Formats: sequence, C-alpha cells, structure tokens
Amino acid sequence: MHLPRPPLPTYDDVAEAAHRLKGMAHRTPVLSSSTLDVLLGAQVFFKCENLQRMGAFKFRGAFNALVQFSEAQRQRGVIAFSSGNHAQAIALSARLLEIPAVIVMPEDAPLAKIAATRGYGAEVVTYNRFTEDREAISRRLATERGMTLIPPFDHAHVIAGQGTVAKELFEDVPHLDYLFVPLGGGGLLSGCLLAARELAPQCKVVGVEPETGNDGQQSLNAGHVVRIDTPQTIADGAQTQALGALTFPLIHAGVSDIVTATDAQLMSAMHFFAERMKIVVEPTGALGLAGACHGGVRLQGKRVGVVISGGNVDMTRYAQLLTAASAD
Ligand SMILES: *Cc1c(COP(=O)(O)O)cnc(C)c1O
Repeated sequence: MHLPRPPLPTYDDVAEAAHRLKGMAHRTPVLSSSTLDVLLGAQVFFKCENLQRMGAFKFRGAFNALVQFSEAQRQRGVIAFSSGNHAQAIALSARLLEIPAVIVMPEDAPLAKIAATRGYGAEVVTYNRFTEDREAISRRLATERGMTLIPPFDHAHVIAGQGTVAKELFEDVPHLDYLFVPLGGGGLLSGCLLAARELAPQCKVVGVEPETGNDGQQSLNAGHVVRIDTPQTIADGAQTQALGALTFPLIHAGVSDIVTATDAQLMSAMHFFAERMKIVVEPTGALGLAGACHGGVRLQGKRVGVVISGGNVDMTRYAQLLTAASAD
C-alpha cells in the first residue's frame, strides 16, 4: 500500500518562481579563485548567495511562497518558526508584500537575531527551548489567528524558490560537471535538482552535510527518511533532524551523492573565503566548498559549481572561527 504523498514540485514551478522573483531577489554573482583552481586542478564557480538579500538564499523560497498567498491569507498573515535565516527571509518578504508576520523564536536566541527580525517589522513570539515545542506553539497560533504556517524547507513553493539558485548558475555557467550544495532539510538541494534535471542533466549534484548531522546520507543509504538527534555543529543552518516528505523523494531520485564536512573543514573554508576571495561566509554556507575539497569526489579537470548558501554570522563569532582556523 502506498501512503498518499503531496504533489512534488517540478521544473516549471522553478521557472515560475524565477519570474516572480525577478526584480525582487538579486541575481547573485558567480565568483572564482585561480588559487583554488590550481590547487584542485579544476575550474570552480561559486554561486554567491551570501550576497543575496538578507544574506542567504532563503529569501527566494520565502518570497515565492508569500507572493502566492490569497487575499484572505495576506490579511491574516504568515507564521514561521526559526531562529535563523528562514525567520529573516519570511520577515523581509512579509514586509515587502505588506503581510503581517509572526516569528516563533527560542527566548535564548541571540538578541541580534531577535532584533533583526523585529527590525523587518515581524512580531516575535518567544518560547522556552527546553520545555516547549515550537511546532506545537506555531500550529496553535496559526489556528487561533488564522495565519498560514510556512515551513523552512518542506513546502513546494519554498523548494521551487530555492531552485532558482541553480537555475541562474546553470544559465550563467554552461557545461558544469558537478554542483555541490549545502544540505539541511533539503529545500535548497531538491530545488537545485529540479533545475539540474532540466538545464544540465549531465551535471552530478552532490549534497554536503555536517559530519555530525549526516541524516541525509543515512536516509539515502536506507532508502527512507532517517531521523537523528539535533547534531552538534557550527553549521547552525544545517542542524536539521530529518529530510521532509517532499525533499526526501526529490533528493533520493536525483542526487548523485551526499558527502560530509567536519567543523574544522568548515572553518578552514571560511578562512579561505575571507583571505583569498574577500567574502564573509557563515559556517553552513561553507559546506559546499568543504565538501568539494574533502568529500572524496575526484574533480581534476572538471567544471565544478559550488553554492555558497549564506553569509549571516555574528562578527564576534566569525572572528573566533577564523582565529581557530588559522591556528591549525
Ligand atoms: C537553511 C540553510 C541551509 C540549508 O538549507 P535546506 O533547504 O534546509 O537544506 C544552508 N545554508 C544556509 C546558509 C541556510 O540558511
């Protein structure tokens, strides 16, 4: 017997998302480093979503979801639970579309993040991470206030929006052999797979997870979603416990491989980005490069795309991570 599965997004949804995002999201630049190319014996093209609005690709999926709200949904507003980039992406998109937004955040979230989310005009509701369940709180609020809950990755419109990252890269850089994509809950990776299947079917797409949080790798091997405890890693954007009902089947069907990166490898990649390329990349944003360098994939002579997924990192923490990296 088959369980009912929600309809999966397709490449057409990615193409439509690209239209909706035109003039709203930045078409981010593609950068390269001749030093790295010599080191790897490959040509590497970085898609720089650290330079996206609000500092990460998540703006694409959030805006693509909110812009499709009905008039009734717009009036009642949007709710999201996140302490990270999804919260800010929803808050910014809601402000641009004049939709009320509630973001559910842990009460011990960094003050800067709470302030940034409020700064975009969202109402922040805090909860105790140790005694309360954020999903339950969000669902209760959504029901009470008639708001629409937009999850961070397992949503067709979110996935389609994230897929525009790879769509732009394939349009700007033809004939890629590989594409390395940071992997948390899989919204970014599954969207990129939809774009690859249509625009670059020869390109092998590889997901990169933190070593301690390799639930995606385990799920791929098992052939079903494997859930893990919240992993300890500096890659806070990829501390997810499991892939979703939409993202798993898309990833299972299309991904070439899933590899992992250690925290030390992430710090060293961040250091490289700062020193050689003069760009600020958050730990999760460095997964793609770390995976390309250390994931055991032979890249000599290949054309390699790498998604830099975000650049939001507290400056004090950033300084600490760079210092720890250069001490190696
Ligand atoms: C959310 C996030 C990811 C992971 O994206 P998923 O769609 O959950 O796989 C990677 N990098 C950054 C910077 C993020 O904010």
